[in-house]
Amino acid sequence: AHKGLDYDAAINIRKKNLNPALFTFYRKPVYIHQGHMQYLWDTNGRRYIDLFAGIVTVSVGHCHPTVGRAAEEQMKKLWHTTNIYLHPKIHEYADKLVSKLPGNLKVVYVTNSGSEANDLAILMARLHTGVFECVSLRNCYHGASPYLMGLTALSTWRYNSPTGFGFHHSMNPDPYRGPWGGKHCRDSPAQPGRHCDCAEGECHAKDMYVDQLEDVLRYSMPKGKVAAFIAEAIQGVGGAVQLPDGFLKKAYEKVRARGGLCISDEVQTGFGRLGSHYWGFESQGVVPDIVTMAKGMGNGYPMGAVVTTPEIAATLGNALHFNTFGGNPVACAVGSAVLDVIDEEKTQALCADVGTYFIQALDSLRSEFEVVGDVRGKGLMIGVELVKDKVSRDPLPADEVASIWEDTKEMGVLIGKGGLFGNCLRIKPPMCLTKADVDYSMAVIRKALQNHSQRL
Ligand code: PMP
Repeated sequence: AHKGLDYDAAINIRKKNLNPALFTFYRKPVYIHQGHMQYLWDTNGRRYIDLFAGIVTVSVGHCHPTVGRAAEEQMKKLWHTTNIYLHPKIHEYADKLVSKLPGNLKVVYVTNSGSEANDLAILMARLHTGVFECVSLRNCYHGASPYLMGLTALSTWRYNSPTGFGFHHSMNPDPYRGPWGGKHCRDSPAQPGRHCDCAEGECHAKDMYVDQLEDVLRYSMPKGKVAAFIAEAIQGVGGAVQLPDGFLKKAYEKVRARGGLCISDEVQTGFGRLGSHYWGFESQGVVPDIVTMAKGMGNGYPMGAVVTTPEIAATLGNALHFNTFGGNPVACAVGSAVLDVIDEEKTQALCADVGTYFIQALDSLRSEFEVVGDVRGKGLMIGVELVKDKVSRDPLPADEVASIWEDTKEMGVLIGKGGLFGNCLRIKPPMCLTKADVDYSMAVIRKALQNHSQRL
């Protein structure tokens, strides 16, 4: 039972003493005080299925016992010295992490967050190429440091203040909203089998989006040179927008032809979540030059990383690079236990199995409800886009989205929300979710949609 600060006192402190730009979910925010695996409990002892996992951060389960034990044991031995001395954990961790990555991705920088990782990745790419300009996709989110606010291309996250410059945004290859579509060119269990209309699996839509990238490279880059291109295989904050198959392969070719490096942001898509692959980039058949990660890496413990090749890392070796907390023994013990649990519990296969089951169930809602416009994703990285109607695809108005979403919370299921119009339900639970949890969640989502239809 909860014996700490009561709800009203917490709300009061929140209003007076905490960041006012920090948003809480729900009209009456839930007051969570305990978690176990895929479940959360509020201070009244009410249980929720957590389909958002602290924004995709709890990977193997809230307070997973193996990860908790690893942290506890390390906390009894050593918390911190900074990496000016050797300690075993960071070395064990780096060795284990690179074994999960292909090619020459062998050098690890451990950070404390995803933003730090992406900041560092951009710096590395600029130093290595000697070029300043970088490209990302519209609708992307790669972090909120002042530097990355320029890279991130979601207006809701940007302040009216100078941000990092030298960032360009290419048209988002959004298969649902983009002008050339590509809905059938996604490898999603929502459309089993390959439905791409384009000849020989050659996706016309994908090529059009690649042409847009080529235009940005050709017309906006000084001397046509680019330092880096960064993307996620499935955009997280942007509403689980799944890039058309093969887009990254062609995009990487274009960028590399101009001497640029390719960065894959695996902050949300990594660690087996997509089910079919351990890393998001693998689902697009590419090997990046730099990979960034965070969130699920520590199962909720703050840590992030950049992994790159020895050649690229060498450029950063020309000056001191230092991070006080990055790679501390406790974080590395936690990260190491997370990697073990993913192997031991066959988490990636579970994501494929349970995720496919979930996506197909959600997709069946499209024929039942006019407002369920698009169901997409892979494994346990799922998006449901709510629209006014299937023909116009206009986003469902915010108050209607909120009513559905509030209803699911009332029935014990916590879901994420996102996308530029805030009309995408984001389902990215701890990766230990079961089919029984899916059945319960589906009943709740269906009921919330029925309630919404009745209100119309
Ligand atoms: N990249 C992606 C894809 C993210 O989703 C996020 C966080 N939502 C970040 C980077 C930034 O990570 P952090 O909040 O740990 O700085």
